[in-house]
Amino acid sequence: MRWLSVGPLLLPALLLTTSCGPSAGAPENPADLILLNGRVYTMEEDHPWATAVVVTGNTITAVLDDDGEARAYGGPGTEVIDLQGKFVVPGFIDGHVHFNNAGSLINDANLMAVADDQGLANEMRRLVGILDEGEWITGGLWGAYEEWSLGAEAAGNKKAARWEPHRRVIDEITAGHPCLLSSFDSEIFLANTAALRAAGLEDAPVEGMQLDAEGVPTGLIYRGSPALERIRSARTPKSHERLLNENRAALKALREAGIVEIHDIATPDQTSRFAELQRNGELTARVWLRPDLSRGAELGAQGLTMGLHPEIGVADPFLRYGALKGYIDGIMGTHGALFFEPYDDQPGNYGHYRPHTSDDPQLQVGDMEKMYNLIRAGLDAGFVPNVHAIGDKGTALMLDLYERLKNEGVDLSGFRVIHAQVIRPQDFPRFKQIGVIAEVNPYHISDDMRWMEERIGHERSKGAYAFRSLLDNGTMLSFGSDWPGTSAAEYHMHPKYLIHAAVNRTTLNHTPEGGWFPEEKISVHEALKAYTINNAIAALEGDLRGSLKAGKLADITVCDRNLLEIDPVDILNMNVEMTIVDGEIVFRRGV
Ligand SMILES: [Zn+2]
Repeated sequence: MRWLSVGPLLLPALLLTTSCGPSAGAPENPADLILLNGRVYTMEEDHPWATAVVVTGNTITAVLDDDGEARAYGGPGTEVIDLQGKFVVPGFIDGHVHFNNAGSLINDANLMAVADDQGLANEMRRLVGILDEGEWITGGLWGAYEEWSLGAEAAGNKKAARWEPHRRVIDEITAGHPCLLSSFDSEIFLANTAALRAAGLEDAPVEGMQLDAEGVPTGLIYRGSPALERIRSARTPKSHERLLNENRAALKALREAGIVEIHDIATPDQTSRFAELQRNGELTARVWLRPDLSRGAELGAQGLTMGLHPEIGVADPFLRYGALKGYIDGIMGTHGALFFEPYDDQPGNYGHYRPHTSDDPQLQVGDMEKMYNLIRAGLDAGFVPNVHAIGDKGTALMLDLYERLKNEGVDLSGFRVIHAQVIRPQDFPRFKQIGVIAEVNPYHISDDMRWMEERIGHERSKGAYAFRSLLDNGTMLSFGSDWPGTSAAEYHMHPKYLIHAAVNRTTLNHTPEGGWFPEEKISVHEALKAYTINNAIAALEGDLRGSLKAGKLADITVCDRNLLEIDPVDILNMNVEMTIVDGEIVFRRGV
């Protein structure tokens, strides 16, 4: 089915690799790869542990408890790897990423945790080392964590005045690169001299530009200034090659994190880049594309539907359309998630709807018929819906709508409530009753806890990221990172962060002690399940992937420690040693 294989990658060898056949007579179809001496956690209930996995082509041909038996599958060309007791799981599947944005936080400015001159200069030095001469440096989102450092313990410890950077901090470093950087809330911007010159603003400042005592621009520009438009129109757009390089950086990060598949919120231009990377043999993670909910009819008219490759229109297990992504409400980070009662820190604000659920320019008046019709159009074209719902009212309205479809006889397999972030007590049993999946983003706990109770109070926070309650009510959980996050929060993608957050419910600094609402902690096993087999089932491909079993596709991740045995505080130290996608080793840790 796959029409191009992952190209040859030069991989350093760390784990012992030998090429040796069985002791007596090679089998007719020798395996391509045999993994031996592992602690293999299969996610198959009737055979949870094994020591060896045999791979032929892109398929797992045997999962065995006896290394000698596994060796018998080998031939002269078989690669045999001694895992030296390492922990093996089905490849991690990330149920929620924004791939397009992820690469630009790697290959363009990422200042989210920066709020001083030193940090700014360091980030500019890093970028100048990556980019070609003349390429613009943009974005950055500085100050997202200025008031909070990196955890809840610093909440309330707000600085008196905002950091306001000056162009002289970056001018020398970025002489060959015009820069237009922004604060996380887009209130202030910083242009370097090269950018001011490109827009003719260095010696002719306009309204909204900060000037020093001598009347010279400092480079700082306030929201609404005409200078911003001038600089933006002088800016050279990112070249196709640069966008591909951002994609390559994001794919590398995924390989190194053991991620074998992403469920991406896809845009049309990114979709064609995925196809190009696939043609080049560079696409090292499976991609399940989630186009916008409004595109169901349009895609259907082109004969495209779930499971089909976006360009060649045939079934392709590597790059294909998945569900349609809809939105009920806003997000917590902007006080936009929809609640039955107002925000504690913004009396009168209940959050807002989104264009899929409202025609009101202020997004205050809901119209669930609009979403119902969009979902129906998607179903007619063969797409299931995956819909974002964050506030308790957003989540309840989504469950109501799914319940209505169920009562009309629709099969709800693969239907998801994305985020399911804050849930009223009476709504917990409904996921199981209706038969829908809760796609949750555990790392949000580690980050959002810094302001959650301040915004919605203690009582409502009990139903926030309440994974234990969801599981105890029989809900199927699907894990996603939401990588790389919003303009106000950076969400990490490496599985160690998500598993840590779900199991420990603390920040990266291990606070608060004992965990935030610790009664909602889940086990490592439950977290792994939500990250592997459940995400395959959520993509309606549970019989093809997601566990280690003969006949399934060979997507395998090797970790340096057994997550089920270590002290949970040690989860954050976990490293991925090897990533196998479709039978190919796409990453191997080494020097
Ligand atoms: Zn998202």
